[in-house]
Amino acid sequence: MNTTIKRAYNFNAGPSALPLEVLEVAQKELLDFQNTGMSVMELSHRSATFEAVHNGAIELLRKIYNIPENYEVLFLQGGASLQFTMIPMNFLSEGKTASYVQTGAWSEKAFKEAKFFGTPVEAASTKENKYKNIPSQEDIKFNADDAYVHITSNNTIFGTQWKVFPDTGDVPLVADMSSDILSKPVDVSKFGIIYAGAQKNLGPSGVTVVIIRKDLLEKANTNIPTMLKYTTHADNNSLYNTPPTFGIYMLGEVLKWVEAQGGLEKVAQNNEEKAALIYDVIDASNGFYYGHAEEGSRSLMNITFRVADEELEKKFLAEAKEAGFVGLNGHRSVGGCRASAYNAVPRETCQALADFMVKFQQDNQ
Ligand code: PMP
Repeated sequence: MNTTIKRAYNFNAGPSALPLEVLEVAQKELLDFQNTGMSVMELSHRSATFEAVHNGAIELLRKIYNIPENYEVLFLQGGASLQFTMIPMNFLSEGKTASYVQTGAWSEKAFKEAKFFGTPVEAASTKENKYKNIPSQEDIKFNADDAYVHITSNNTIFGTQWKVFPDTGDVPLVADMSSDILSKPVDVSKFGIIYAGAQKNLGPSGVTVVIIRKDLLEKANTNIPTMLKYTTHADNNSLYNTPPTFGIYMLGEVLKWVEAQGGLEKVAQNNEEKAALIYDVIDASNGFYYGHAEEGSRSLMNITFRVADEELEKKFLAEAKEAGFVGLNGHRSVGGCRASAYNAVPRETCQALADFMVKFQQDNQ
């Protein structure tokens, strides 16, 4: 490792911190990948060398997430935002309904896209409570003939996260897991579709992971453009056209890193402990800091908080920046502060922020 490089205290919401070990592997292999005399970016996506990278990433994701055989794992492009479109395009039609649980800005965007293809219905919304909480199972209304029920498992902007996923019976549960995929073990068999942009917990931006139950593929609309059909990608092992090869390689390396951490149980434990370092400071601050999310809905990935005094909040953000913290400003639509502590954010980085927050309070109270 080049010890002269000082890594930032990176709390970016996405793209966000990548594991240092993964970056070092990529650096080492950049000019000559597996004695090919080429970078992984220069390989043909049809070459055996790249196919091994591609299939290795799929297999490792299947293993780590315990993905059952009756699911396809797809690597697509267009970000999670294109999934907002592809899901209703593939599964809705005029007059057909799907229920959407509204827990934040990304849920709203998903809902909006569904209107182009069918009739999305609001299953529940916490908008009136400023998206501070996740609704309870009893508050979620959906119909037995809905094509699916859509949720956002972690709300990146508001800092809330589902702790227990809703039971939707025979109606497929579709989850945008962009900001908490692979942060903890999940029972994949409870979902019809899981999708996520890679740029938070999985790797660099450019790859979108879709995990989809095979029986849904059989029910998908057929009179839609080739590239927007899930079946096109499922039938071609996500190699119908040129995939984002470098992103897939990095995803594979991130998955190896997750495995080396001790798997998802261990990653989840680390995430609990890391987030607690910061939430504990907020809770012990006697109102100097306050969290946005209600306690039972707090996200372990995006810790959203305010400094009670608005002027002090500006000072806090300015001094934090000065001290080397990156990405602590809340999303431009809501303001405040947000610390995104995804899998790859080291515990020491969270501890440094907790210490900085304590010191700032002492100096400014
Ligand atoms: N869903 C969630 C929960 C997100 O956090 C984001 C991006 N921050 C998106 C969707 C949009 O993802 P993309 O930029 O990959 O389209």
